[in-house]
Amino acid sequence: IQSKKEQLISIHEAATAYYHQILMNTVTGEKALQYLLRRGFTTELLEEYQIGFSPPNKTTTHQILKRDHYSDELLRESGIFSDRTDTNELLDRFGSRIIFPLRNEKGKVVAFSGRTLPNDEETSDFDFHEAKYLNSPETIIFSKRNFLFNLDKARSQMRKTSEVVLFEGYMDVISAWQSGVTNGVASMGTSLTEEQIRVLNKIVDSVTIAYDGDRAGMEATNKAIELLSIGNRFELSIFPLPFGMDPDDYIQEKGMQAFRESIVSQREMVFQFHSRFLKRQMDLDSESNRLQYLEEMLKRLVTVDSIIEREMYLNELAEEFHLDAAVLKKQLQEYQSNYL
Ligand code: ATP
Ligand code: MN
Ligand code: MN
Ligand code: MN
Repeated sequence: IQSKKEQLISIHEAATAYYHQILMNTVTGEKALQYLLRRGFTTELLEEYQIGFSPPNKTTTHQILKRDHYSDELLRESGIFSDRTDTNELLDRFGSRIIFPLRNEKGKVVAFSGRTLPNDEETSDFDFHEAKYLNSPETIIFSKRNFLFNLDKARSQMRKTSEVVLFEGYMDVISAWQSGVTNGVASMGTSLTEEQIRVLNKIVDSVTIAYDGDRAGMEATNKAIELLSIGNRFELSIFPLPFGMDPDDYIQEKGMQAFRESIVSQREMVFQFHSRFLKRQMDLDSESNRLQYLEEMLKRLVTVDSIIEREMYLNELAEEFHLDAAVLKKQLQEYQSNYL
């Protein structure tokens, strides 16, 4: 006999098969399928991730799952249905959305994320905007804080290379996977949690952050660096994306090979990321901003452990601002003695 958790997983597995079938083989799923193919998904990839579509008629999912004789109470607990109680029928909360099954580390589906079709976004007459992605609520089998998308698939490559690539979005992880970067995972669109970091720490020594190349992505990168630096557990690097691009955009535009190569050759160290981040925030044409930038970067240099690295960055700064490296060094020493 199945435990409650096992039953909830069975419900998710059944729903996954149903959604996937709708996407691949029905008229109802046609628009969503066209959209995904246009975005560069192949049918093999849709199979591999068991991507699906939830029909606009929100009552059919319940009817399908009822056939397996699960109680309505258990079905409600699965999180698949909306919380409306004014109806006897359970309504699929993901109706009209593309479905990404969320698998735990063992590969079992424990939740879903649903993405709107772009058409729906545009035809809304109201000032009311539906969230692009909608996730399952927390349940006894799904906790966002502990979850990393793609960990089940990426784990063996993470072990082999002792390295993980962190993405912001599912689309990025899946595109990267298709292009041969198979050690990628994503947190749930929220900032990285201590639980997720602990999981990563058991598997890898190095983390490459490949968040979106927009302001939010850079801020999230900054935050992730802070969290990942606690306790000096990882070697960190950052994949710098052109402004306004995310990894999936990059792959669609520059190709899979370019991505595979540049994720290794173009990645920067934390210090370089901070330099780029600061430069985006302040206009270095002004003298006082240049000064502020230099001071900020020198203070950061204090926390760089390797003497060689420190020397290298110091010389780079001196060169960039046409200053005597000895002068910068003096200032650095002053900051160092304050820091101790
Ligand atoms: P797409 O390319 O389809 O637009 P994306 O992954 O680029 O998707 P982003 O807007 O960059 O989408 O968001 C990154 C991630 O953040 C998503 O994959 C999702 O996990 C999460 N996310 C985004 N919007 C929401 C939301 N409204 N609610 C919950 N999670 C969200
Ligand atoms: Mn984003
Ligand atoms: Mn994105
Ligand atoms: Mn995207």
